[in-house]
Amino acid sequence: MIIDDQHYDVIIVGTGAGGGTLTRKLASTGKKILVLERGEYLEKESSELVDAEVFKKENFSAPEQWYESGKEPFYPQTSYSVGGNTKIHSGVMLRMREQDFEEVKHQHGISTEWGLKYQDFEPYYTEAEKLYRAHGKAGDDPTDPPRSKDFPFPALVDCEPQVKDICDRLSGQGLHPAYLPIGLGNEGRTDSEDTGVTPAIKANNNVTLKTSAKVVRLHTNPSGKEVRAVETEIGDRSYLFMGDIIVLACGAVNSATLLLYSANEKHPKGLANSSDLVGRNLMKQLMTVLVQLTPTPNCGLFQRSHYINDFYWGDEDFPYPMGHIQNSGGILQDVIFSESPPILSVAAKLMPEFGLKQLAKRSIGWWLQTEDLADPNNRVTIEGSKVHLDYTPNNTEAHDRLVHRWIDVLKSVNQTKQSIYPRSEAPIQVAAHQCGTCRFGEDSKTSVLNLNCRTHDIDNLYVVDSSFFPSISATSPGLTVIANALRVGEHLINRLN
Ligand SMILES: Cc1cc2nc3c(=O)[nH]c(=O)nc-3n(C[C@H](O)[C@H](O)[C@H](O)COP(=O)(O)OP(=O)(O)OC[C@H]3O[C@@H](n4cnc5c(N)ncnc54)[C@H](O)[C@@H]3O)c2cc1C
Repeated sequence: MIIDDQHYDVIIVGTGAGGGTLTRKLASTGKKILVLERGEYLEKESSELVDAEVFKKENFSAPEQWYESGKEPFYPQTSYSVGGNTKIHSGVMLRMREQDFEEVKHQHGISTEWGLKYQDFEPYYTEAEKLYRAHGKAGDDPTDPPRSKDFPFPALVDCEPQVKDICDRLSGQGLHPAYLPIGLGNEGRTDSEDTGVTPAIKANNNVTLKTSAKVVRLHTNPSGKEVRAVETEIGDRSYLFMGDIIVLACGAVNSATLLLYSANEKHPKGLANSSDLVGRNLMKQLMTVLVQLTPTPNCGLFQRSHYINDFYWGDEDFPYPMGHIQNSGGILQDVIFSESPPILSVAAKLMPEFGLKQLAKRSIGWWLQTEDLADPNNRVTIEGSKVHLDYTPNNTEAHDRLVHRWIDVLKSVNQTKQSIYPRSEAPIQVAAHQCGTCRFGEDSKTSVLNLNCRTHDIDNLYVVDSSFFPSISATSPGLTVIANALRVGEHLINRLN
């Protein structure tokens, strides 16, 4: 084991939405910061092409398998690279709704109340939208939360005409399609490499990034009250890095497993796990992609542009939250990426006269997501060196209702005689929206982190990624992870000073 001779003020593990953003926020303090990232740089061209409406993209899956009790191991769809999952994300930058921070009654249970409210996050959402160059338009969606500032850039109104046409028809029916806020820079979607890590390194000589550096264990001092060293594999060598403050930002599954792997005499169930909640309450939302066939071809390659939240809080005959709908990007890119994308394969059987590419150009994809509820039995565990996921979907009727309701709506605005809408539900390997495995809160018995995302048990250990969510909402989580990193960054700046 090589003991690094440097001492850092802060060590950040992971460069995704949480870690990359925090690196940028802390860089200007001049403090000595080490960033450890298990992945390498991902080529821009390949990341830009990705859209997430198809649930099978081995190209962008992690190079390791995770395990599910009694089932085949799988390659999770999660990116180990500088920028983490923001390198392959769809760029959608949505705020959680105001009510999402409260206790909400769902058909099959209660969505956990947050210890902080929307108003606490609002300034950081504003900062996050500015940093990640969100293009949007407020006010079209009745569930929009209040905002102190307008979007920093106007919405991308120049969208695929077929989508625009459908949205006009939806408006004609009294629904409220709204422009999706998208983070867009000069070279495409913004991500936490270009927005977070790279500017932090360029502008300051106090930030050191080590790539292909996989953190495998945290070591505490003898009392167990402080993390002393971060054990890291780089190539075939092991290093120990020392720092005053340690921040995990490995994503909800990997931050939890790292804490579990770091169990020691003082922390027999895993670091910071006196509550026995590390790894529990894994949430990932219920997701379905639906294909709508169109009478005439479209260009096949286009950006996501609209969302519909009319059923977010329920429907006339269903007084419980159902979820969020957005159009996926053009489906042709999935044909480029995968010879036989599963959802189109289903459609191809229904329309055997079409080739996959033709079919892709005759389709609009819709992406539906519903909140799943925190359940302590849905959890990440470790067995030797294996990562296990136990996950049983809940709140499924609300999601089914959303899917069927949306099919009815599409039928009513459709110009074809289409009666079958091929759909594909997200399997376990779609861990894209993983959240909740180290929830934050005031009470150390019912949460792993305090409201500053510091572990209740260890004074110099923080977790600043999607792990902290007590409930997930039906909104894509990326912007909330970024806003939270900015919020915790402010706390850390005060602490460091
Ligand atoms: C295909 C796809 C599309 C998505 N689209 C959207 C979208 O449009 N809008 C949205 O809001 N959200 C979207 N998401 C979700 C969003 O990307 C995530 O919520 C967000 O990136 C989570 O941030 P994070 O910091 O928790 O983790 P990540 O961004 O996953 O970053 C974790 C980082 O930690 C590194 N790491 C892990 N373990 C270790 C270790 N042991 N040592 C060192 N480094 C480690 C990883 O390599 C990675 O870089 C999408 C996700 C995917 C996969």
